Amino acid sequence: MVWEIVIGLEVHVQLNTQTKAFCSCKTTYGAPPNTQTCPVCLGYPGSLPVLNKDVVRSAVKAGLATHCSLRKVSGFARKNYFYPDLPKGYQISQYDDPICYNGYITIKTDNGEKKIGITRIHMEEDAGKSMHSPEGTLVDLNRCGIPLLEIVSEPDIRSPKEAYEYLTTLKQIIRYTGISDCNMEEGSLRCDANLSVMPKGSKSFGTRTELKNMNSFRGVEKALTYEAARQIEILGNGGEIVQETLLWNEQTQRAESMRSKEESHDYRYFPEPDLVDVVLDEAFIHEIEQEMPELPEKKLKRFMRQYALSEEDALVLISEKEIADYFESAAQGFPDATLMNHWVRGEILRIIKDKQLPITQSPVDPVKLRELLTFLLEKKITPQTAKSVLDDMAETGKPARIIIEEKGLLVISSGDELETLIQTILNENPGEVDKYRDGKVQLFGFFMGQIMKATKGRADQKAARAILQTLLDNK
Ligand SMILES: [Zn+2]
Repeated sequence: MVWEIVIGLEVHVQLNTQTKAFCSCKTTYGAPPNTQTCPVCLGYPGSLPVLNKDVVRSAVKAGLATHCSLRKVSGFARKNYFYPDLPKGYQISQYDDPICYNGYITIKTDNGEKKIGITRIHMEEDAGKSMHSPEGTLVDLNRCGIPLLEIVSEPDIRSPKEAYEYLTTLKQIIRYTGISDCNMEEGSLRCDANLSVMPKGSKSFGTRTELKNMNSFRGVEKALTYEAARQIEILGNGGEIVQETLLWNEQTQRAESMRSKEESHDYRYFPEPDLVDVVLDEAFIHEIEQEMPELPEKKLKRFMRQYALSEEDALVLISEKEIADYFESAAQGFPDATLMNHWVRGEILRIIKDKQLPITQSPVDPVKLRELLTFLLEKKITPQTAKSVLDDMAETGKPARIIIEEKGLLVISSGDELETLIQTILNENPGEVDKYRDGKVQLFGFFMGQIMKATKGRADQKAARAILQTLLDNK
């Protein structure tokens, strides 16, 4: 039997608004526990929530970026459950009328591009955080009320690899919109998955299991690979899949049953009585449309066209909006985009990786890089010199012009100066000169090496070659 895997993903994205979803508490990550709370997010009786407009703005941005339809009137609901980190006893969420619905994103697969449907994007608030230790469990309620978007995919994903691609692409798009940093380590992006298998070509899905606790995209891919194999083995042996929630254990690389045979949750959703409906008017949507950045797909095509870059090069440059911005700023008015791409991809990305800095804090800013490469383009310095000047710039922050001047790094192209220098080298190596003249012509490279060494790589190679040839031939 050939089996087909069906995967759905639920992604929670924490929004980077200044304040929480329904109160004015700050949302700073890493603040001391329970210092960013108030009666509203702690659920004190009599307190009333007020919706943060930036949450709606972010939801609309996410919807526009993923080709969703926007619901003109949507409401909030209470999702009831009991848990120590949920002081209100319910979470304010959206239920049957999510603000965004029916969208898609395009991912790359081995068989070309594929559209993965987005069922819905809804707004909700986060719960607090329980911290377990041998001494007991503590709770930090700073996270209570921080706004989240839940992004639910259609069951269009057909392999763990496609799931990985979907997550990577979605994260890139969301980061472009600027509504979240999607940092999985800090919990600002979380992903739950569900998976079922069915005979290939079947129209009805098999029983699905849910997977939680994956803390990287590779972890999601591994957990799904594990779970698909497990289900296929059970079904292949004539067994049945039990609907259950599994926890991925990164240490053992196994999915472990969390609660089996538990009936599905009854959250007793009901409309949130303390909040009015969210009404999106055309002017508001239009305003956000104006704020939308150029998204990765479009930028990729433009970069390939405008800068004549290969898809591979353009993909690296657009991988993050900030890298793309850096490149465009550096390439502005610079006549050789290929050279610029080469240096941004190769050198600038290496420098910021070494220094563990975001590109926005690169010690060599786009203007300084352009100045350096102008020296190179005008052949005033050699490529070797340019590399060492760049490293110097990264360490000292000085502009190329100053470093080149201070260290005297301009190319030696004057014929007289080169001739004197090369003649000295020949005089110092009479043995090699004789051997060369006796026919050992490969010694030419040795002399060039000596010239480069003596000039610290600053000799104009073409001129030096010509002069060397003349002097060697001049018996
Ligand atoms: Zn609060």
